[in-house]
Amino acid sequence: MKNRKILLTEKEIPEKWYNIVHDMPNKPLPPLHPGTKEPIGPEALAPLFPMELIKQEVATEKWIDIPEEVRDAYKLWRPTPMFRAYELEKALDTPAKIYYKYEGVSPSGSHKPNTAIAQAYYNRQEGVKRITTETGAGQWGSALSFACQHFGIECEVYMVKISYEQKPYRKIMMNTWGATVHASPSNRTQAGRQILAENPDSPGSLGIAISEAVERAASDDNTKYALGSVLNHVLMHQTVIGQEAAIQMEKAGDLPDIVVAPFGGGSNFAGISFPFLRLNLEEGKNIRCIASEPSSCPKLTRGVFRYDFGDTAGMTPLLPMYTLGHTFVPAPIHAGGLRYHGAGVVVSQLLRDKLIEAVAHDQVECFEAGIKFARAEGIIPAPETNHAIATAIREAEKCKQEGVSRTILIHLCGHGHFDLGAYENYLSGHLVKHEITSAEIEAALAKIDTPMID
Ligand SMILES: *Cc1c(COP(=O)(O)O)cnc(C)c1O
Repeated sequence: MKNRKILLTEKEIPEKWYNIVHDMPNKPLPPLHPGTKEPIGPEALAPLFPMELIKQEVATEKWIDIPEEVRDAYKLWRPTPMFRAYELEKALDTPAKIYYKYEGVSPSGSHKPNTAIAQAYYNRQEGVKRITTETGAGQWGSALSFACQHFGIECEVYMVKISYEQKPYRKIMMNTWGATVHASPSNRTQAGRQILAENPDSPGSLGIAISEAVERAASDDNTKYALGSVLNHVLMHQTVIGQEAAIQMEKAGDLPDIVVAPFGGGSNFAGISFPFLRLNLEEGKNIRCIASEPSSCPKLTRGVFRYDFGDTAGMTPLLPMYTLGHTFVPAPIHAGGLRYHGAGVVVSQLLRDKLIEAVAHDQVECFEAGIKFARAEGIIPAPETNHAIATAIREAEKCKQEGVSRTILIHLCGHGHFDLGAYENYLSGHLVKHEITSAEIEAALAKIDTPMID
């Protein structure tokens, strides 16, 4: 009988997070102060984050213990299942073996609770009463709302106004877990009031929502701020995914030749791939780890590696990363979670050192891939996830042309049940190909005035 599903027991939930910084041949460059442009230390982050998370942000030890209470909370949905995609293999008529690790079984439907639970835990340990955050399409806001509810902390979410109006279900989900959700720009902060004074009908943006959430946290001693991607500690929390996946692959008697994941700021990509990269760095294995990004926001494949701000307004520290420029505004394609101008510092350094790869896909190719996947395997993937499926299908087709079998592991980081509007658009033929032009890229890069890196 075919073994379609590869499961683990609760005992096999990882006990430690993996910190790849320890094994990197070139360590990440330091963040710089936004004003003086001098390197800053961890203490600069103290108004926004609890001490334990700041320590993790700059940690160099290889393994960090996962607190027992966090592992216990993980048991609500972990270990997550891995599947062999027999039906997709058949549909593609490929000699490739395809597996996928599914994080859509979490309460909010994606990988994001892996870090939300850890962040809420450390905040509660340090007596924090309220956490603020921003959310675009709502994946991160809902994960943090769930996690704050679990640990008895108030959660205040600034949701980009256009999403707040167009995607009410994510907001209702957050409310159900007890969070308060404000359409951003709001009149609750100076940043919001200033935008509203200039433009009362502003649709909002992630950059504005970040400014509002940060301002609230910085101006109240009992309030901290949480981020769902990009930062080192966030990427590290996600490594539970790849550690489980490595055991599951072993149980299947296999090892991936290729690991693919969609890429927004880098957290789910890091989560699935870093434990496999460890095998490359430590044991000389040669597993290709590929990050899949939208061709409308191609910071990894067409951006530059240099210092840039994390937010639109230029308030955050300067980070050394692949970027299209902090003022870059991507076209409103549906994969909302991938519309960020920059990439996490650690993944950026790994790409620069050619230890990982990146590819870009147009949104039509992604939805074709996602629908092929849904019709074969049943699960309807998040639009972001479709990017990784598109990469996997390209690689599986290459296997067919070359007449070789390779093992491909896809990170199925979320389901698309709240994104059916995007599927409707595709199915009714309204989704159009979108590729950014070289002139648009050049114009965006020309606007960057932050420090270069040799
Ligand atoms: C948030 C999100 C992403 C993008 O963020 P990363 O930090 O790059 O993982 C991708 N897929 C899903 C389903 C998400 O919710």
